[in-house]
Amino acid sequence: TIGMLAIDAKGNISGGCTTSGMAFKLHGRVGDSPIIGAGLYVDNEVGGATSTGVGEEVIRNVGSFLVVELMRQGYSPEDACKEAVNRIIKKKPETAKQIQVGFLAINKKGEYGAYAIQEGFSFAVCDDKRQDLLIPGKSFY
Ligand code: ASP
Repeated sequence: TIGMLAIDAKGNISGGCTTSGMAFKLHGRVGDSPIIGAGLYVDNEVGGATSTGVGEEVIRNVGSFLVVELMRQGYSPEDACKEAVNRIIKKKPETAKQIQVGFLAINKKGEYGAYAIQEGFSFAVCDDKRQDLLIPGKSFY
């Protein structure tokens, strides 16, 4: 999945995502990306979130909606992503060891964060001055 979140100069948030789905998927499978609240959710009062990875687990946890609701409760974007990931792990610890799910989020202040089950998840942050590639919880690389 490629998920994108944007904030404009007035603090308005928008988002979008696209995916080719999972390898060897069943014909007719619908992943998380086209389901609002799962692969993408934006509430312009709070922020936005998007996901990547095994869509079934994201759908079961209404992942992007969960991330936004956690930010509404005061979680930072990164902590909200981490809590959503932890919820997936807690429900299915054995499955979670073998899959990837990651979330990316931004809030109204323009703060952003991300978190994923497995290493190897990175995200880009761009504005008029910077184009950086980041790893959740780590500094630039
Ligand atoms: N989230 C997508 C899906 O489950 C897979 C991906 O990350 O591209 O369809």
